[in-house]
Parts: sequence; C-alpha cells; structure tokens
Amino acid sequence: MTTGIWILGNQLSTGQAALESCEAKRQQTPIILIESRSYARQRPYHRQKLVLVWSAMRHFAETLRSQGWRVTYEIAEDFESPLKRWIEKNQISELRVMSPNDRPFAQLIENLELRCQLTLVPNNHFLWSVEEFQTWANSRKRLLMEDFYREGRKRFDVLMAGDEPVGGKWNLDKQNRKPPKGKFNPPEALWFEPDEITQEVIDEVKSSDFSTYGEAESFRWGVTRQQALAALDHFVQKRLPTFGPYQDAMVTGQETMWHAMLSPYLNLGLLQPMEVIEAVESAYYENDLELNSVEGFIRQVLGWREYMHGIYNYMDADYPEKNWFNHTQPLPKFYWDSSKTDMNCLHQIVSQVEKMGYAHHIQRLMVLSNFALIAGVSPQQIEDWFHSAFVDGYDWVMQTNVIGMGQFADGGVLASKPYASSANYINKMSDYCGDCTYNPKNRTGEKACPFNFFYWDFLARHREQLKLQGRMNLVLGNLKRMSEEQLQAIRSLAQAWHG
Ligand SMILES: Cc1cc2nc3c(=O)[nH]c(=O)nc-3n(C[C@H](O)[C@H](O)[C@H](O)COP(=O)(O)OP(=O)(O)OC[C@H]3O[C@@H](n4cnc5c(N)ncnc54)[C@H](O)[C@@H]3O)c2cc1C
Ligand code: SF4
Repeated sequence: MTTGIWILGNQLSTGQAALESCEAKRQQTPIILIESRSYARQRPYHRQKLVLVWSAMRHFAETLRSQGWRVTYEIAEDFESPLKRWIEKNQISELRVMSPNDRPFAQLIENLELRCQLTLVPNNHFLWSVEEFQTWANSRKRLLMEDFYREGRKRFDVLMAGDEPVGGKWNLDKQNRKPPKGKFNPPEALWFEPDEITQEVIDEVKSSDFSTYGEAESFRWGVTRQQALAALDHFVQKRLPTFGPYQDAMVTGQETMWHAMLSPYLNLGLLQPMEVIEAVESAYYENDLELNSVEGFIRQVLGWREYMHGIYNYMDADYPEKNWFNHTQPLPKFYWDSSKTDMNCLHQIVSQVEKMGYAHHIQRLMVLSNFALIAGVSPQQIEDWFHSAFVDGYDWVMQTNVIGMGQFADGGVLASKPYASSANYINKMSDYCGDCTYNPKNRTGEKACPFNFFYWDFLARHREQLKLQGRMNLVLGNLKRMSEEQLQAIRSLAQAWHG
C-alpha cells in the first residue's frame, strides 16, 4: 500500500491537510505538483497570475524537498497524463488530495479515471469548514455577513472582552469611510525582486503560445512563505496603524493606499487566515493601535473572506449562472485595454490592473463592477473578466464577489441592495473626476458622465424588481420625481452608448 499526495496550486502550505495526514511517513510518501498548460488556456489569465502561481508552486516544491518529502514536479499539457504515469511508476494505491476550494476543480478530479483509491482530505485553509458554515446558515432566517462576523468573533475569541466586543462596538465602519482630501503619502508597499526561478517563469509566460493579458515584466509579488510573512509583517508595522479611515478612498497614483495586499498569499495558502488575524490583534494590544483600523481589517478576513467562502459552498452549483436582472450586454472592450476608454476612473483602474493584476476593494466594487452592473453587462462576462484579470482570482472568491456582491445577480442572497451608484460616489471618494473629460454632475448633455445616465437608466429599467428591496426606496422616490423628458434623454444616451 503506497499513499501519494497531489498538491494543487493554491494549497501551498506545509500544514495543509493532505500533507499533515502523512506527516509520519514523509520519506515514503510520494508527492506530485503539476502545472497544466491546457488549464491555463481556459481563459486569458493575467500573466502575473500565471507567474505567481507557477513560481510559488516551484518554490514550494523546493521547500518540501528540503524537508525530506519525495517530490515530483511536472509541467504538462494536462493534469491527467502525468498523474497516471506517476501513480503507475510509484505503485500508488491511494491518492490523497486536500479538497479543492473550487467546484470546477473538484469536478475535474472526480472525472479522472484513476487506477487507485481517491481520498479527499477536508480542506484546512479556512477557519470555518463547509459543514460548520452550513450548520450556521441552516439555523438562520437571513444570511447577513454582520451576524456571521459577530459569530466568528465569539467563536474564535478575536477582539473580545468576555462576551462583549473590545471597545463596546462590533462595527466601526462609519469611521472608515473618509473621502480623500489633500495629499496622500501611504507607506510604500513591500515588493520583491524576481529571483532566478521567478525570472524563468516570467520568460516562459512571455513566450507562451496561449492568450494572456497584462504585463509580466513588472511582476514583484512574493512567491514564498518567507516573502508572504515579510509582506504580513510590513503591513502590520507600516500600514495597519492607519488602515481604517481611508479604506474606501481612491487616489490617482496611489494604487494600493493602506490596503494589505495579502489576498494573493492567503488564496495560495502561503498565509493562513488565523495567523494574519493574530498578528493584527497582537499589534493592537502591543502597539496601542486605533480600534477602527484593527477591527476594520479583522472584519475583512474573519468576516468577509470566510463568509464568501461559506456562501460559495452553501449555494447550489448553478449559482454562477444567476442573472437576476437578465443583463445581456457584452463586456465593453476597454476592460481588456485601458487605452480604449476616456472615462478617467475606469482608465486609471484598468491600467493599474494591467500593470499589477490588483485593484483594491472599492475600485473593484464601486468602479469596475458598478459600471458593468448599471450598463447591463452580462454578469457571466464580467465575472469572466475579473477571473482572468486579477492575481488573487479563484472560482470560490469570484462567484460570490462578482455574481453576488458586485452584480446582485443572485437577487439578494448576499447583499441587501445592489452596489449601484452614479458618479456622485466616485466624485466623493476619489480624485478621478477632476481629470476627466466627463462632468460628474451631468446626467444628460454633451459631457454627461456615463455613470450618471447608466445609473438612472438602470433604476428605471428595473424599477419593479428594485421595489422589492426595501433599501432602494429613497432613490426610487427620486426617480419618480424625474420628468419623463429627462428620463427619455437619459435612456437615449444609455442606448446610444451601447451603439
Ligand atoms: C467585484 C469584486 C471582485 C473581487 N475579486 C476578488 C478575488 O478575485 N480574490 C480575492 O481574494 N478577493 C476578491 N475580492 C474581495 C476584495 O476586494 C479583495 O480580497 C481585496 O481587495 C484584496 O486586496 P487586499 O489584500 O489589499 O485587501 P484588504 O482590503 O487589505 O483586506 C484584507 C483581506 O481581507 C480579505 N477580504 C476582504 N474582502 C473580501 C471579500 N469580499 N472576499 C474575500 N476576501 C476578502 C482578503 O483576503 C484581503 O486580503 C473582490 C471584490 C469585489 C467587489
Ligand atoms: S466624471 Fe464620470 S467617468 Fe469621469 S472619472 Fe468621474 S465618474 Fe468616472
């Protein structure tokens, strides 16, 4: 009886469940990691995403070898052929894989016709198991993130004083929505020069024959556990103290503001959620930090991240197909090429994504996703774009964030109202409008900002459906007061824009 382990590209921790289960038999346990080129061909991935995953896998294989594991590393067209060869060669009778986070990958594994027993070991890269989340969700009438987050604070004893939240309040979001005024000098982010392995992957990706997106040369993400830990430490020391107040602000040239930029590492398994939370909580007590910054950050990891993962698994497999508003417009071309739009907010953020495969939460939600929502773009097409374009994109986190939160295509499972807004929000929370061809105040006329006419057109088109969402009543009241003439002018602009 030989047990072998297949480690997937986003399971790169030495404590991952399949490795842990064979810890006592390190030297006898064959391990395989596979880079599949046909998998990478599925969509035009950002070149930095491919570099990140493949370089991190290659570094992780080295780490495992140095710890005495017997590692095979394959670069192949598909997963199946090298896997079968390796099973045959090592006479493997049981293949262990830590359960994949993503449903399509779980399906892929199930469809492999392997000549050995397949054991899926429960995934230990999240704080809540799929079953635990289900138990929580089944006991509730509503699946509010705020309720889930509070449960998580108690369950894991994070920022708690007995049964009460430290500081007396669960939610300090109100202190964390300052608009950007004046000059901003957030501490530099921590970047890493590519080493030999990374440079090799960059060259391979650049010369590959498959369709990709974005720049490869400017790759500076970390690819090892040590670098991920350094990024965490840098964030805690330099950015966390002032993380909170400008969490929602967007400033030209300050792509990352005070954000942590830890999602690529968390999603690969190079960092674990609890160690991130503990580092932040300890810094709060040791360095006497502001609670709004600390709570604001912990809410993201203990709350939003775990909640999105839980919801993904809780929903039926047809969740990705949801389209509550029945939106069918094609994705505008500028999402793939920032030079094709003169809307400054979109131009700035899409060019940032081209350069680094990253945008912060509000840029993603209130500009990139908001525009697609109000312009009536197919939720599946915008999800596809996000999935390709971001270094931290995976099915589990994309479906919930894009289909659910961003596009409201699930009809309100996840959000209590659509994240739709006019230029007003962008003008308040960024400096983009100052340098734009369009006027953020105009709904109609020559310089009317597309965010404005699309926003009002969106409300008018979906008035009946939106009435069902109690939180939309105020804006629907404003829509009601709009003259038919103005509404017609708005409608014409929206229709003309799509051509
Ligand atoms: C349309 C849209 C698409 C998104 N796509 C992704 C994606 O592909 N991958 C991804 O990891 N996150 C995604 N998010 C969530 C969030 O925007 C990113 O996790 C965050 O911007 C990553 O940057 P950061 O590490 O600097 O985050 P910070 O703002 O510093 O937050 C800290 C951490 O909290 C976690 N987090 C916060 N919000 C979420 C959330 N809604 N879902 C999951 N984790 C969260 C992340 O791990 C993040 O690293 C998306 C959000 C939206 C609205
Ligand atoms: S005016 Fe409109 S398009 Fe231009 S930056 Fe502002 S919101 Fe974006």
